[in-house]
Amino acid sequence: MTIAAQTGTSDRRRTVGLIGGMSWASTATYYRLINEDVAARLGGLHSARLLMHSFDFHDIEAYQQAGAWDAAGVALAQAGLGLQRAGAEALVICANTMHKVADAVEQATGLPVLHVADAAARAVLATPARRVGLLGTRFTMEQGFIRDRLAGRGLEVIIPGDEDRLVVNRVIYDELCQGRVLETSREAYDRIIAGLVDRGAEAIVLGCTELGLLVETAPVPLFDTTILHARAAADFAVGGAG
Ligand code: GLU
Repeated sequence: MTIAAQTGTSDRRRTVGLIGGMSWASTATYYRLINEDVAARLGGLHSARLLMHSFDFHDIEAYQQAGAWDAAGVALAQAGLGLQRAGAEALVICANTMHKVADAVEQATGLPVLHVADAAARAVLATPARRVGLLGTRFTMEQGFIRDRLAGRGLEVIIPGDEDRLVVNRVIYDELCQGRVLETSREAYDRIIAGLVDRGAEAIVLGCTELGLLVETAPVPLFDTTILHARAAADFAVGGAG
């Protein structure tokens, strides 16, 4: 008999499937944040009902470099199906970049994918900021899968110039995704963020799930997608909309 049945209470808790390992450095943060949030909301010994498929990021990066997004979509969809069979009721892709294939995952599994851009947009829209600087991989900064979703919710998105985008992208793959946090890179990001603020950014969206490891302060509000996405996952896990 379930605890809810024993106590006569309704149990709205739900299982969330995490598609992670992109990279492990940020998936570890998701796991901790979701559990902390659920524990804070439900109290006592509660923690989140989670399932995880953790990719070898070497394979994911190879798809990205090759532009093999269809194959990447199949790989993530298969991961999602495994999580669905194991009991997941919603999926969380623990990266911004791989939201490029979020639709493929949703279609293959029939499960809702809690979209990272929706979590970010909700948080920004709760503040006065409407023009945001977006930092992430070159795919996230240059393509539409996150930008258009933010714009569709009424945000104006600006990104760093060509050379600075190379720096932002390189630090993500060569350092942060390998668990390395360098002071010189923090200084480079500070300079790039200052440039976005000069161009009118009223907030900065850390649109890569490792960036919270590096960027801690800015002259304008920071919106860390890992924190916001993990909060959405915790909300779904306790019976909310996500
Ligand atoms: N975790 C990152 C993101 O949020 C970068 C790694 C990847 O390319 O998936 O986009």
